[in-house]
Amino acid sequence: MELIFLGTSAGSPTKRRNVSACALRKFGAKRWYLVDCGEGTQHQILHTKLSIMHLEAIFITHIHGDHCYGLPGLLASAMMSGRTEALSIVAPQAIQRFIEAVLDTTELPLSFEINFQSLESLDKTLKFRHFKVQKISLSHRVASVAYHFCETGIGLRLDVEKLNADKIASGPHWNQLQKGLDVEVEGQNLRSSDYTFVAHAPRKVIIGGDNDSPQLLAPFCEGLDVLVHEATYSQQMSDKIGPAPQHCSAKALAEFAQQQQLGNLIMTHFSPRYQYPPSKGLLITELEDEAKSYYSGQLHLANDFDNFRLTSKGELKLLIPSS
Ligand SMILES: [Zn+2]
Repeated sequence: MELIFLGTSAGSPTKRRNVSACALRKFGAKRWYLVDCGEGTQHQILHTKLSIMHLEAIFITHIHGDHCYGLPGLLASAMMSGRTEALSIVAPQAIQRFIEAVLDTTELPLSFEINFQSLESLDKTLKFRHFKVQKISLSHRVASVAYHFCETGIGLRLDVEKLNADKIASGPHWNQLQKGLDVEVEGQNLRSSDYTFVAHAPRKVIIGGDNDSPQLLAPFCEGLDVLVHEATYSQQMSDKIGPAPQHCSAKALAEFAQQQQLGNLIMTHFSPRYQYPPSKGLLITELEDEAKSYYSGQLHLANDFDNFRLTSKGELKLLIPSS
């Protein structure tokens, strides 16, 4: 599984960070999924190997502009690229009105269908080609959700030891067993489930929207491989600003991740006030240092174009760093 960060800034873009967007796909697959689509996301996509022709679904976490203003441009470009395949969008109901209003205002008839699923009426797990997806309600100034992605379609492995022990010689029937098919060999019925096992446990990732209460994710942390969550500012800044924006501090997020014993935490959605040296203002390292003093698992602060691979053993590796 791969996570590719397309935007990691909160509210407004900076020279180094665009606003929220994160791509998810099975390693090596063409099809991919997008969580949030801040303005300029389509420009970011152009710097990756992702193609809007192979985008299967877009998930919007909440209605704030830094998470959705990129939708109309992306849809228009998909049309101009000749897309005809339907695209799924899972989002608050208001996003459908937003899209329709822009398409109508700019007289843009799309060449493909949008299968729109409103979050308000979503009460079940959604199934896509590579993932099952569940929404988790969060706490923010407006309704906001996290998306829980659980991998599906994991291949089977042959239990060669058992096949040998039962004196079942190799042949095309081994292939069929591995495909999950029961076969008859020399009058003997062989059940695939007796001679195969699932290659690995399904990988699970949560990508959160804006949220001031990470504890809301606690019921979904069992077996979770990676949590991607906002850490807009430090605790000190959060105390200074007060609770009104309803964002999460690096400290609050790190404490939660520690309490849940999460193996991998990726922080994102950083306030533009946090910069890199030689800036004389607030530094992004302040958020990293704060989180590290409360969390002992593997911590990453996402940068635009960071490309992470989550292995079948649940190890998270930064394949392509942004710079
Ligand atoms: Zn927001």
